Amino acid sequence: MRVFNFSAGPAVLPEQVLRRAADEMLDWHGSGMSVMEMSHRGKEFISIAQKTEADLRTLMAIPDNYRVLFLQGGAMAENALIPMNLLGDKTGADYVNTGEWSKKSIKEAKKYCKVNVAASAEDRDFTYVPPQSVWKLDPNAAYVHICTNETIGGVEYHWVPDTGAVPLVADMSSHILSRVVDVSKYGVIYGGAQKNIGPAGVTLVIVREDLLGRALAITPSAFDWKLQAENDSMLNTPPTYGIYIAGLVFEWLLEQGGLASMEQKNIAKANLLYDYLDQTAFYSNPVAKADRSRMNIPFRLADTSLDDAFLQGAQERGMVQLKGHRSVGGMRASIYNAMPIEGVQRLVEYMKEFERSHG
Ligand code: PMP
Repeated sequence: MRVFNFSAGPAVLPEQVLRRAADEMLDWHGSGMSVMEMSHRGKEFISIAQKTEADLRTLMAIPDNYRVLFLQGGAMAENALIPMNLLGDKTGADYVNTGEWSKKSIKEAKKYCKVNVAASAEDRDFTYVPPQSVWKLDPNAAYVHICTNETIGGVEYHWVPDTGAVPLVADMSSHILSRVVDVSKYGVIYGGAQKNIGPAGVTLVIVREDLLGRALAITPSAFDWKLQAENDSMLNTPPTYGIYIAGLVFEWLLEQGGLASMEQKNIAKANLLYDYLDQTAFYSNPVAKADRSRMNIPFRLADTSLDDAFLQGAQERGMVQLKGHRSVGGMRASIYNAMPIEGVQRLVEYMKEFERSHG
């Protein structure tokens, strides 16, 4: 029996993808082997990698002057690799601080460059996105870094900042592929795969071509975007099986009608939960309405002594991983692309029932 899995990541994957991977496990398309066992330089795997990239380009309408890299290390490694790859002859970068993941990016970047925190939402406990009118950008910054969806705080950008000639770098780990994105507005888009793309172990970097070639001399070769771009992400062995699963997820997304259709479904799912949260005093969500995440919805019970009973009841009804991040407590429902609306419906029904019996 499959549960409704509200984990923030690694997270739920489409059942259709898992079944297909199971079917192809022992013998991929008559090759007589599993994708896991293939040489990354053989024609079978090259065909998988090429189709995976082509489908992602279709889904996101990635312009030709952007390179798509499938790397290792996760978004956390990219926090260090971004300054390494983008500083060139500059010494500093701008960061906007909207919560836990922004903070981690800032902390890591400080090892490599001067960080200017151009704006921070700390004054209101990271419950909103500071409007660009209050940002203090440095015209000499190598780039401007934002986290477009804070997985822990549940804060999402629903607009794209205008940073002029300074490249905009976005950590999209937890909402990539959940909505239509105008890639041309960004210099770099990056993220770990384990939410909306596939299994952990694949890191996606989409980089505008003219930004390649600015890496510091200390940059490890395996993480030098230019070297990886020149080698089609095969300077070293790429995370082959993860790329294959990502490819199956991309095919599934195309069958679902692409990102515009996915976005509508995600709006409907998020509204279902937020509408209920807004009309009860039993639960609450602290985030400014205009900046609420469609993917990660933190909520609290007014009486926190009921938290354990709430989680226990959810588990008994086939809903797991609703406990909030250890740093903030409370609850969090992560409702990525692969979470069906039925999962959110069951959650809201259960929340109402729990309120009736404990309110
Ligand atoms: N950024 C965001 C927004 C995330 O949600 C996460 C992981 N939850 C990370 C960065 C770190 O990613 P990884 O664990 O893949 O290094």
